[in-house]
Amino acid sequence: MSTCINPSLIRQYLYCPAAAYYIATGLAEPPTERMRRGKEIQREAIEAIAKALQAEKVEHSPRLEGWGICGVVDAVLWIRGRPAPLEVKYTTPPPKTPLPHKAQAAAYALAAQATYRKAATHAYIYYAEAGEVRTVQLTQDLTHLVLQTAAQVAKILKGWTPHPQPTPKCQGCWYKKYCGHTQTQVDTI
Ligand code: SF4
Repeated sequence: MSTCINPSLIRQYLYCPAAAYYIATGLAEPPTERMRRGKEIQREAIEAIAKALQAEKVEHSPRLEGWGICGVVDAVLWIRGRPAPLEVKYTTPPPKTPLPHKAQAAAYALAAQATYRKAATHAYIYYAEAGEVRTVQLTQDLTHLVLQTAAQVAKILKGWTPHPQPTPKCQGCWYKKYCGHTQTQVDTI
C-alpha cells in the first residue's frame, strides 16, 4: 500500500523536520483551548466566508486524497464550478503568510484536484483571531515544494529519524522537551 501524507505533516516538516517526526510517531501537541473554542464557531464562520466569496456550495470537513496526499480539510468552497479548499487557523495572521502555511493549503488544493477531477487553482487560509482570509495560489514552485516535502515525510513514516537542529525557533517550541534544546541560563552577578 502506498503512503499517504497529511498536509499538516507537510506544514510541520517545513517548520522543523524533527517536529514532523514527533507528530508522525504519536507525540503531537494536544489541541489548545483557543483551538477548542474556535472549532465551536468554525461552521458559522465558514458559511459567512463562502457567502462573501460568492461560493455556489460549501462542503464541511471533506476528505481529500490524491498525489500521495490525504486528509480532512476544514471546508471546500465551490466557486465558478471549481473546488477551493479552506483551512482555518486559530491564530492572528502573520504579516506575510508563512511558507509552511502556504504549502499546507497548496497540498489540499492538489488533493482536491485529484478528488474531484477538477482544476483547483488556489486555496484559502482563514486566520480566525483576526477574521482575515488569505488566498494561496497553486503555483508550480509551490506544487514542487509540496511534493518534495511529502517525499521527505514519507521517509519518516518508513523509519527515517531526522536529527533535531537547534535554531532560534526551539525557544518557543512545544517539542523542546523531546529534543533537549533547553537553553542553559547562567545568572550573572
Ligand atoms: S525544539 Fe527545535 S529542533 Fe526540536 S522540534 Fe522544536 S524547533 Fe525542531
